[in-house]
Amino acid sequence: MKMLNWNDVIRFANHGNPTPDRRVEKTDEEWKSLLTYEQYRITRRKGTEAPFSGEHCSIYEPGLYTCTCCETELFDSGVKFNSGTGWPSFTQPVKENAIKYEKDGSFGMVRVEVMCNTCDAHLGHVFPDGPAPSGLRYCINSVSLQKKEETTHEK
Ligand SMILES: [Zn+2]
Repeated sequence: MKMLNWNDVIRFANHGNPTPDRRVEKTDEEWKSLLTYEQYRITRRKGTEAPFSGEHCSIYEPGLYTCTCCETELFDSGVKFNSGTGWPSFTQPVKENAIKYEKDGSFGMVRVEVMCNTCDAHLGHVFPDGPAPSGLRYCINSVSLQKKEETTHEK
């Protein structure tokens, strides 16, 4: 795929996101019953985990990271880098249409929220201060991600 840059992110946030390969839609009650409280709070209520608290924060072993809610592949460990922020950070999604972008004006800032494009789970935010060549830093909650080997949710 073509490498995404900040202009692409802004274009998606302003003019609409790429079409996902599939959609997973559930009611709020269904998500509540499927997820732990912390997973529900972050992915379905746009929460943020405490920095340096996440299990994926300092792990760089090869593998794919999937959405905690719908298991769609989102990021490859090959583009994971240590941003020093305390949240898992990536420079690119695995596929252009894996991620959905929306402007977020909360907390008096304009940021770009990133969500799973399949099930709308809140993942984190993307910033234009990442390493070259993409210049992107996807700052993602560990709770929103699962390493692919794991097939069951931790309860
Ligand atoms: Zn998802």
